[in-house]
Amino acid sequence: MKYLDEFRDPELARKLFAEIEALARRHWVIMEVCGGQTHSIIRNGIDQLLTDKIELIHGPGCPVCVTPLEIIDRALAIASLPNVIFCSFGDMLRVPGSEKDLFRVKSEGGDVRIVYSPLDALKIAQENPDKEVVFFGIGFETTAPANAMAVYQARQLGIKNFSMLVSHVLVPPAIEAIMSSKSNRVQGFLAAGHVCSVMGYWQYEPLARKFNVPIVVTGFEPLDVLEGIRRLVIQLEEGRAEVENAYPRAVRRQGNVPAQKMLEEVFVLCDRKWRGIGEIPASGWELSEAFREFDASLRFPVGNIHTQESPLCRSGEVLQGIIKPNQCPAFGKECTPRKPLGATMVSSEGACAAYYRYGRFAS
Ligand code: SF4
Repeated sequence: MKYLDEFRDPELARKLFAEIEALARRHWVIMEVCGGQTHSIIRNGIDQLLTDKIELIHGPGCPVCVTPLEIIDRALAIASLPNVIFCSFGDMLRVPGSEKDLFRVKSEGGDVRIVYSPLDALKIAQENPDKEVVFFGIGFETTAPANAMAVYQARQLGIKNFSMLVSHVLVPPAIEAIMSSKSNRVQGFLAAGHVCSVMGYWQYEPLARKFNVPIVVTGFEPLDVLEGIRRLVIQLEEGRAEVENAYPRAVRRQGNVPAQKMLEEVFVLCDRKWRGIGEIPASGWELSEAFREFDASLRFPVGNIHTQESPLCRSGEVLQGIIKPNQCPAFGKECTPRKPLGATMVSSEGACAAYYRYGRFAS
């Protein structure tokens, strides 16, 4: 397939593996922040084909995985209300809350619908003026512009029966939290190309300086990932800590400026709890004062939420790169994609799901 096959060329991949092997003179620990990159690494066996010199740690970049349990439970409570049509991307439906998931709410009679865009939810609101339509607005900076646009349009069109349950998270504060952790082992980052296509990569430059850590903006195909690793190894061996763009076909330093303007208008920074990790200051977006009338968490006061994680799940350690998914005792036993105990086993971008899908049962 054009534009994909050239980034999956086995000959070029072999050359890049050989180059990385020759460049690395010692052991380096590299984190890919994005779940899409984790999936590509496991699917293509990149981590297995690299020698012990390069250790890849799978970071907290799957938005489904890090959405806090309190928000999932709030979504379940709102979706169970009688007059509500609850719209979500499909991968949120199986994410386990404290007691059930959105599929269960649907089977119990809740009107839960899968949509492919927040603008679809807006259309449903227009078609059902006697119902309250709620969209589950989660994700990193990548999905945020479309969500911001949906809320903006709702206001422009005067659609009063639309609201959004917002739980956006941001990559730079997560990198800051990882690098500030006493248990941190990460020496270089592959930054997510799609996030940078929206936000640019200027935000990463102070982080690279502050923590003396190289960051390479990287795509998702096997050659993209290998090129990102190659560039990181060169920097690490030379003792440099700079931000480099290895994904220029999609990313510019300044990013998508009109999208950033829309985000600034609709959202404001907030502290955000990350599932399995805890609260990270100024690591999320919530609706700004001007758009707060569309905030589903204010429109539907669903009472006190008491969360209960599975005591078996160690996804917090997986998300911080402290253990690999197959080192969790429940992996492939009590916890499978059909019966996930934690969010990292649900989403196709989750590290536990990727390990399970590609048969990584031995650590
Ligand atoms: S395998 Fe399942 S129980 Fe273990 S960390 Fe992953 S999601 Fe949690």
